[in-house]
Amino acid sequence: MFDFQLSHRDATTGARRGVFVTPHGPVQTPGFMPVGTQGTVKGVTIDQVAATGAHMILGNTYHLALRPGHETVRRLGGLHAMSGWDGPILTDSGGFQVFSLDAINKVTEQQVTFRSHIDGAMIELTPEYSVEIQEALGSDVVMVLDHVVALPAEKEVVVDAMARSIRWAKRCLDAATRDDQARFAIVQGGLDTELRMQCARELSAMDFNGYAVGGLSVGEAPSEMYRITEATTPELPVEKPRYLMGVGRPIDLLESVARGIDLFDCVMPTRNGRNGFGFTDAGPIKLRNAVHREDTRPLEEDCPCIACRHSRGYLRHLFNAKEMLGPILLSIHNLTYYQRVMQGARDAIEQDRFAEYVADKKAGWGEA
Ligand SMILES: [Zn+2]
Repeated sequence: MFDFQLSHRDATTGARRGVFVTPHGPVQTPGFMPVGTQGTVKGVTIDQVAATGAHMILGNTYHLALRPGHETVRRLGGLHAMSGWDGPILTDSGGFQVFSLDAINKVTEQQVTFRSHIDGAMIELTPEYSVEIQEALGSDVVMVLDHVVALPAEKEVVVDAMARSIRWAKRCLDAATRDDQARFAIVQGGLDTELRMQCARELSAMDFNGYAVGGLSVGEAPSEMYRITEATTPELPVEKPRYLMGVGRPIDLLESVARGIDLFDCVMPTRNGRNGFGFTDAGPIKLRNAVHREDTRPLEEDCPCIACRHSRGYLRHLFNAKEMLGPILLSIHNLTYYQRVMQGARDAIEQDRFAEYVADKKAGWGEA
């Protein structure tokens, strides 16, 4: 049911062009997944998400398990039927939220225990329970539960969490029962390239459908993230998709594609959109700035999104008047922008000019 076909590898970088086939349709790679935390990409209807060019979206196990509850999602027909999105869906394991949301947590070999931010209930999340929840949600891709540590951390802490993540990955694989769900492992190991490589090798020996690089984009310098990604991807199976979790800015996507990453997710296009921050080929635009007050130009001249039928001046007015249409339109524009950057990347890889494409984008963004 799952297949990953690499159709082309860029001549001068590590960039790959492929298709990840799922029971709910194909995902063109490199690709970007909008984040649908609560079973919805915030402020945007599924038809609008599809119109941005997205192939696959992400749902958050932690949030959906707490509310409405995964059994409720199951009874509503699963995440696809409940949300109305009939394309591919990836769910995370809940690990990142449990370890990062200041949910009071205690980690043992068996499980992580945390307190619900909604009703204060103590919840024990085992690798097996994370898989059970994701099976109830019915996503196309299930992520393993991993032990995420805040960086920087002492080496022994990173080693301990990495080793536990590998044991937990095995338990997730053993617990899985659905044959219509792919399972992705998550490489941990902090900012230590040796640990990352070791973790990637050990997980590669297990039969996963894909591999993620986790625990990055948590405050480290972008150069550190690129260094770790560059060291990790050569240790992963060539014929399986690779997913860099929670990343990031458009430049981070392209730099990581150049290092062999195929899939991404990030809240940045929608979160920044809600805050009046638009992405363009000429760099970011802060719509609240007075300079846009009477600007009749769209955010981007050639953008096909519905926000770009309007002037910057009108969009700025919507934000200043606190009209909900402002955040909605800018979220749509930013999601469209991310998809267009990735479409451009896919085209450039096919034509062996990915390095040139990245250089052009960086020049426009003022990052060159
Ligand atoms: Zn637009």
